[in-house]
Amino acid sequence: MVKLLISGRVQGVGFRPFIYNLAHKLGTKGYVCNVGGQVEVVLEKAHLEAFLKELDNKPQEAQITAITQEPTATLDTPFYIAPSCGVDLSLKDSLPPDLAICESCLKDTQDPTSRFYNYPFTACAHCGPRFSLLESLPYDRPHTSMKDFQLCEDCAKDYNDPTSRRFFAQTMSCPKCPIALHFLSPQGIERQNALQEAIDALKAGVVVAIKGVGGFALTALATNKEAIEQIRTLKARPFKPLALMVPSLQEALKCVHLSPPELTALSSKEAPIVLALKKTQEYDHLAPNLNTLGVLLPYTALHFLIVQEVGAIVFTSANLKSEPIITNLKDLQAKFPHICVLNHDRPIMHGIDDSVVRLVAGKMRLVRLARGFAPLHLPLSAPENILGMGGHNKTNLCWLKEGCLVTPELGGFKSMASLERYKEDLSFYTKLYGVPKVVGLDLHPGYLSSQVGKEQNAPTQEVQHHTAHLHALLAEWGLTHTFKDGQSVLAFICDGAGLSYAKSIWGGEVFLATYQKGFFKTEHLHSLETTFYPSSTSLLKDAHSLGYALAYQHHLAFAPLLCESTMAKNLATIISKRIATIPSTSVGRLFDAVAGFCSVGTINTYEAQSAMQLESLATTHPTDEFYPFEIQEDILIAPMLKAMERDILSENYALAAKKFHNTLAHIALGLSVRYNLPLLLGGGVFLNRLLGDTIQEIFKDRVFFLPEILPPTDGALALGQVHFVANSLKGSHASC
Ligand SMILES: [Zn+2]
Ligand SMILES: [Zn+2]
Repeated sequence: MVKLLISGRVQGVGFRPFIYNLAHKLGTKGYVCNVGGQVEVVLEKAHLEAFLKELDNKPQEAQITAITQEPTATLDTPFYIAPSCGVDLSLKDSLPPDLAICESCLKDTQDPTSRFYNYPFTACAHCGPRFSLLESLPYDRPHTSMKDFQLCEDCAKDYNDPTSRRFFAQTMSCPKCPIALHFLSPQGIERQNALQEAIDALKAGVVVAIKGVGGFALTALATNKEAIEQIRTLKARPFKPLALMVPSLQEALKCVHLSPPELTALSSKEAPIVLALKKTQEYDHLAPNLNTLGVLLPYTALHFLIVQEVGAIVFTSANLKSEPIITNLKDLQAKFPHICVLNHDRPIMHGIDDSVVRLVAGKMRLVRLARGFAPLHLPLSAPENILGMGGHNKTNLCWLKEGCLVTPELGGFKSMASLERYKEDLSFYTKLYGVPKVVGLDLHPGYLSSQVGKEQNAPTQEVQHHTAHLHALLAEWGLTHTFKDGQSVLAFICDGAGLSYAKSIWGGEVFLATYQKGFFKTEHLHSLETTFYPSSTSLLKDAHSLGYALAYQHHLAFAPLLCESTMAKNLATIISKRIATIPSTSVGRLFDAVAGFCSVGTINTYEAQSAMQLESLATTHPTDEFYPFEIQEDILIAPMLKAMERDILSENYALAAKKFHNTLAHIALGLSVRYNLPLLLGGGVFLNRLLGDTIQEIFKDRVFFLPEILPPTDGALALGQVHFVANSLKGSHASC
């Protein structure tokens, strides 16, 4: 007989039931079981070839990264599922992500003859929450927060029936062995008929906090502006776009334009929020001053049962500004007292937000790497156990050794609550993967992630922010392209802010990376022309102050129109004397400043607010024209600003906004032409759809690359850090 050890995403996806049924179809003896994070199969050698061939028909969500085989002793038992055994986990083993409810389960919840009719937690071996309720591996009920829920007779029968979709379904429950729902009034009083109470409250325009897969969401009837204002007040988010949960694809199509890739993403197992172009003004109050709206479909029976009765609801993570998503009732009631709550009894082990995606340059890109997509496993390896600590926004962790794991992004990282959640995450993964040999962290000493990194019992290596972006791009590009010796690529990183080696702020950087003998030599080639911006945190958020600072330094005639005279005088003084200012090459700040010029700039109450408003304005103008620029040692923006002056003075704001976007796309093209190399694009700026689409249009056959499996944002930094450290372990000390 032969023993196989199968690695990859093979737990929590209905893999053992699949193997069991396959083995019985083939008529082999043997067994299957979970071992650590892998699956072990013993079968007769005579059936091996047919077995391996049939593995192609594995469950849709399963992914196999490696199969090893060895001879083993003869076994004379009909094929069975053996108890799991735990061995040390490796980074090759996948942590199963949370999956949206499958079509069959959804049908069950709508079928009056099914015992799952109207049951909010219907799931099977192929769908439902996984990671959010996982305590450890192997993926079995005793290792999840379902461990205290006993299966009823019917469920036990399904669990043991190889012909059932719920054969070996670890998180199954039904109305006879239910996860109970509880509706609490604003006074904390529990009411009967929890689901109906929540539906009635939502219909009446009341805000309800609903416990879901990875945490609580604040929800309200989407057309009720008062309730939405209440949510904005609760979250201290006056303008931030809020997502819309719609009952069906047909309903989504009434609100937004959806191309085939967007439709596919919306109804995928990952069930992310899709940022799509608005079709009507009906939901403008959810995403004020923007041309996009985030939509998502219900991804559990609970959410489905609610929206099919209520209609579209606003759906946003329950968290205070800069804090992580709330996962338990106690915290919810402490932070949002006096609201209605729909709670349930299944504990959440890992708080996780909804993922967000957006179509840019023809493909779906990740805005937020979270539920459904993460933990993300990548087939990368390194000789040592390396940990990446991430950055300051969109912080996550990355582990690299036999395999590579990127954790879900933490919502915000500017509070004690988020620091605690980050440390909890860190200790969960350290238990699984051991203490790292080297820790990669951002160069910025003020980042909490860097500080926590230095507290680990391991040597640390500082990685410059944009160099980490570069390495994240190299890692992802390398998964689909084989690097040959001497081969080079160019990278253009545009984002908000990262500390440079010279302690200035970078954010518009061009790098060259050359592959040689197994590692990359990298070189910093260009920066965007430096601007001095005020260093105060409040002024840095104000597009008009930034606009004034930029206009003043370039002697643009409209500078005095950008802010009132006392402010202008103060800004002029600090800039000319270079006090309380910071030299910056940031493209993010350039966007803010130009938004200030174009009258759509504001005091940013959420990240990239002015930039997104500028993008929305730009899409209203059809021009292909762009402003002049020069690529010398720096990328000079002075010619662009001088040419823009006329358009701003004549108040042609949409034209100026569009020409500005076109200019950035042409700078990217100029770099590609000058070096005649593939151009990798990274940094949050490249979530700008207009910019990405324009680049796609003007590049024609020239090669450019935008990340697809990682976000271009700081959510990729942890991966970049481990890739950088692994690269330097291989011998490259020529860093940039
Ligand atoms: Zn299902
Ligand atoms: Zn049951």
